[in-house]
Amino acid sequence: MSLTRKGFLKALGLGALAAGSNAWGLPSEALEDARAAVKRLKITGVEIYLFDIALTSPFRIAIGVMNAANDLLVRVRTDQGLVGLGEACPFPPITGETQATNAAAARAIRDMIVGQDPLAIDDLLRKIGPLVHSNPSAVAAFDMALFDILGKAAGLPLFRLLGGSKSVFETDITTGIDTLEAMAAESKRYADMGYKTLKVKVGLDPDEDFARLEAIRRAVGPKTAIRVDANQGWTVPQAVYALRKMEPLAIEFCEQPVLASDHAGMRAVRAQSPISIMADESLYGPADAITLIRAEACDTFNIKLMKSGGILNSIRIAHVAGAANMRCMVGCMLESNLALTAAAHVVASQANIVYADLDGNSEHAVDPVIGGMTVRAGTLTLPETPGLGCDIDPAFVKKLQKV
Ligand SMILES: [Mg+2]
Repeated sequence: MSLTRKGFLKALGLGALAAGSNAWGLPSEALEDARAAVKRLKITGVEIYLFDIALTSPFRIAIGVMNAANDLLVRVRTDQGLVGLGEACPFPPITGETQATNAAAARAIRDMIVGQDPLAIDDLLRKIGPLVHSNPSAVAAFDMALFDILGKAAGLPLFRLLGGSKSVFETDITTGIDTLEAMAAESKRYADMGYKTLKVKVGLDPDEDFARLEAIRRAVGPKTAIRVDANQGWTVPQAVYALRKMEPLAIEFCEQPVLASDHAGMRAVRAQSPISIMADESLYGPADAITLIRAEACDTFNIKLMKSGGILNSIRIAHVAGAANMRCMVGCMLESNLALTAAAHVVASQANIVYADLDGNSEHAVDPVIGGMTVRAGTLTLPETPGLGCDIDPAFVKKLQKV
């Protein structure tokens, strides 16, 4: 039996295409106009601001203390009126960048991208990479601004454009290092607020870490999931000792027990620990993911936009992990709701990202972001507005210092 082209398309249900129209259901002139507008898009200007947000209390982890989020806000403008927003959140104890190095990097990126096509994201990021070594947070700010423009040009929330469907999911909330009593009280408060999963910072003296965790488990009861993060603070024997001792406390996993560069140590801890191991500071970009998989150094990855250089590389890490049958978390530094929302779009877009740690602004004294994701009792919901779905309070921007 032979089938004509028309008959074949009809059989597939593509009646409109068979009838000579386009398969998108748009009048062809409107489609042509939209295509022409997207083809013409050009970056006309970039504004960079020092974006400082005070914390309500200092945030202490095993390798340092942060008293404020000293970020950058980036606004990329185009000739079609579409504007992309991005944020860099350098966390000096971890990535070694500062607001000052990020600002210098952002200036160089600005000079390079003005006049370019904002939708050529892969091409632009390949050019940005060699321009600003060791400033992944600055790169992430531009990456997310470009994806914001892409989503707005397409008229779709970013996670839908990236093929995702889960706009609602759980995030944990983090308790930093403090006295045993303060940590137990804070954890109890979070559990009472409805958080189903808590993340607890450890990585100091293993016996003291254990005592704090035991007090937290007693305070929150058996139903709340607890994951821990040692932030490279332990030696290999300390990590093995601590994680074996913590086994009865039902710990979900442990992030970065030993030094980031010590892949053999990570592997040794993983082999002897009853609690699974997640790589965080050992993992920046997709190449690190491959190295860690080859070294059998961890069970899972903690992806952060500020380490990987943004959305594109974060998705690439998830793909590498997926090919190795591994699951991931997306975490954060001390971002505002802008960069947190960008990270949430990544979570929503990838099936093997099954954990979220997107609480970076929980101790922020102000929230200047309009729209974006919302978190109620640990349940995170993404907006259905095009792009990232965020704006910044213009009154707040007026007070910021331009770079
Ligand atoms: Mg971590």
